[in-house]
Amino acid sequence: MAMNKPADQGRGGLAAPLPEQVEVPLDNDPQLLRIRRIGKKLFDVANCVIAFGNTIPPQLSSDPAANGVETAFCHDISLSDETVVVHDTRRHASLALHPAVNGAPHIRFYASHPVYNQDKVLVGNLSLVDYTPRALFRESERQMLADLAGLVERELELRSVNASQLDLQKKNKNLRRKSLIDPLIGTWNRGAIMRILTIEAIRCDKAGLPLSLIVADLDYFKKINDTYGHPAGDAVLVKVASRLRSCIRPQEALGRYGGEEFLIVLPGASHATAMTVAERMRAAIAAQPEAIGGTNLNLTISAGVASTDMFPTATTEELISRADVALYAAKDSGRNKVMNATPPDSP
Ligand code: GH3
Ligand code: MG
Ligand code: MG
Repeated sequence: MAMNKPADQGRGGLAAPLPEQVEVPLDNDPQLLRIRRIGKKLFDVANCVIAFGNTIPPQLSSDPAANGVETAFCHDISLSDETVVVHDTRRHASLALHPAVNGAPHIRFYASHPVYNQDKVLVGNLSLVDYTPRALFRESERQMLADLAGLVERELELRSVNASQLDLQKKNKNLRRKSLIDPLIGTWNRGAIMRILTIEAIRCDKAGLPLSLIVADLDYFKKINDTYGHPAGDAVLVKVASRLRSCIRPQEALGRYGGEEFLIVLPGASHATAMTVAERMRAAIAAQPEAIGGTNLNLTISAGVASTDMFPTATTEELISRADVALYAAKDSGRNKVMNATPPDSP
């Protein structure tokens, strides 16, 4: 066993280099503090310390308990991969030189047991320190020390499992999000917007609220692709989606229904409100040209609006097809227009 450099110079004297990715808890982890308290009581010592090879030096720790001189002492000692019992530190070649041994608070007893992570890598020591030497440290006490170190190892394992679970949850969430978002324009994709429509239709029906939807389609988009190329067409789609998004509120949803066709779901919106939103969208697109690759492009959309106000018994599919019919009527009447879907016998 050897002493390290003073703690403020880091833990340069470790017996073996530690792997970088070792999951090590902080000094003030409540579960580890509990194990330390048990150790202190069980062995009737001044302190029970868990020192990890790559934790921050104790004087930098935010935990006042970890700033104790015993903790600093234990951090100064190289990790050992076997049980160490020093009955009297004054009789130990290197420990006798430690300032906490030959000066206040005169540490006289030291015992430690290795702590391994689940990859069987030595990551720390669980140590006991006391101010009186001990003539005896029985086999049963060695066993108890090993058991305590085992509890620390179990804690490390739990932390590692929790960390991987959190990581998996995060990855799942990202994957799920990706599966719902259109990769080009960042709006809901067709599957997602259809699900939103179904859910909102049920919710609005139960609450006795209207639900409206808008189907909007870029006018003469093929010409843009043919003239300026597909990447320019892609850029136009991104810009148009952004302008459309700026016209709706957070509880409303914008999705890519087809190539250059958008579906907007407006829960709680009456037919009149939806017409206003669609008109706002049309105006937002037509208001000013979009600069794409150095060229100013004049863009317009046509839109069809359908609402449960007008079709109280319609399914969501029927509502979409009503809005589609209105959209094509808007195209037929010259484009850059909004048309509403109305029942055949209404004015
Ligand atoms: P209309 O005014 O009648 O809607 O005419 P249009 O030219 O917009 O309609 P049409 O359906 O003839 O053309 C739609 C074009 O949209 C054809 C297709 O190549 C293009 N398109 C679909 N998806 C994408 C895409 O992701 N990127 C690009 N750049 N073009 C796309
Ligand atoms: Mg089009
Ligand atoms: Mg189209």
